[in-house]
Amino acid sequence: MQTDASALREALEDTPSVSVRYNPFKPTEWAGEPVPWCALGRYLADRPRFTLDPQLHAGAYYVQEASSMLIEQAYLQGRPAAGPLRVLDLCAAPGGKSGHLASLLPEGSLLVANELDRTRLAVLQENLWKQGRPGVVITHDRTEAFAALPGAFELVLVDAPCSGEGMMRRDPFARAQWSPALVQQCALVQRKILDHAWTALAPGGTLIYSTCTWAPEEDEQQVEELITLTGALPIALELNAEWGMERGPLGVRCYPHRVRGEGFFLSVLRKPGAFHDLVLDAHHAGANSFPELQWLIDPGRWSCTMQEDIAHVVEAAHHAFVQRLMAAVRTAAPGTPALFQKGGEARPHPALALSTALHHEFWPTIDLEHEQALAYLRGESLSTSAARGTALMRYHGLALGWSQGAGKRWNNQWPKPWRIRMQA
Ligand code: SAM
Repeated sequence: MQTDASALREALEDTPSVSVRYNPFKPTEWAGEPVPWCALGRYLADRPRFTLDPQLHAGAYYVQEASSMLIEQAYLQGRPAAGPLRVLDLCAAPGGKSGHLASLLPEGSLLVANELDRTRLAVLQENLWKQGRPGVVITHDRTEAFAALPGAFELVLVDAPCSGEGMMRRDPFARAQWSPALVQQCALVQRKILDHAWTALAPGGTLIYSTCTWAPEEDEQQVEELITLTGALPIALELNAEWGMERGPLGVRCYPHRVRGEGFFLSVLRKPGAFHDLVLDAHHAGANSFPELQWLIDPGRWSCTMQEDIAHVVEAAHHAFVQRLMAAVRTAAPGTPALFQKGGEARPHPALALSTALHHEFWPTIDLEHEQALAYLRGESLSTSAARGTALMRYHGLALGWSQGAGKRWNNQWPKPWRIRMQA
């Protein structure tokens, strides 16, 4: 019989599986074999050229490793209440788990996705804007900043920076960078982040802690220390034995020789104390200096927050909270960017096109064929006979972005950093 270690070693030389998580709020056909622990997850038989699929760029799905989709079970089994929640993802880029939570949270929830590293902020924004869920705020600050909002969130996710042992099959860099010193260094950072997460968590709220490593110093030992220091209560997840996860008293481990996915550790903890349902702000009309917004979105449900020259759509129920958040934490986007000023006029923001809150019927739309959609994603303009105003470019009913009419062509407004370079 093979020992576990040699089975693991063998699995690490194997090809990783390919999986995607579908966006339930965008119309698309789902393909592939279900990921058993995630209703939105599918394994694909092979790896398509994702870049050449306009549906990916429209946010219809996100390419995500299957073990990490276990966050769905953590949320469903560990959430403190089934109603709207204020959720904080402290280490959010590139946005896989934030996007997943945004798909699962009930309407009226607020998700704050924070990323410390400025160089990773752009990809976080891109992924969350493409997913298009309203009620998402993007911040980039040190985790200490959230200690200024004690008890503000009913659910906090710490998907911590780690030594990455579980990614060694997928990512050669994970193998190259590993050292015992890295494990110790990561453990210190994790300790600090958990401390701040705990302060920001409401009594009775839930903390989800995850890493993609197996080093006990970064996994069970972190959880154990938190329990000792705070009285945190671990929540045992019910998981089908056939899925292959290893369940311990302090968390769940995924190994690639047992689970159809990469290495992962997950723990769910409750903060002692009485849970109080979220008290939402009274309806707030918002200081709306962009009356056009009312044409784009339900005016009753959303309010508008100004940041520089951009109007952001915010869930009205969280308006006051977002103002408080912005005062404490460096905020990159206090909601979905909707309109911005250009040459003295209000123009729709690329994120608005991708938002699931946008009413397509308010816009002239142009439905693109596959090749035209790829040309649009490359930043090319579309020739026509008479183009005026702003049009919404779509592919298979999915909004991609805007074009500006300029007589004989539609000028491309797809953001330059998002352009694809790959040729078919
Ligand atoms: N949750 C993300 C997802 O699912 O796509 C992956 C997060 S990744 C494992 C950890 C993140 O923590 C990285 O984006 C990294 O920039 C960030 N990070 C690194 N050092 C940090 C620190 N000291 N405090 C907070 N975040 C940090």
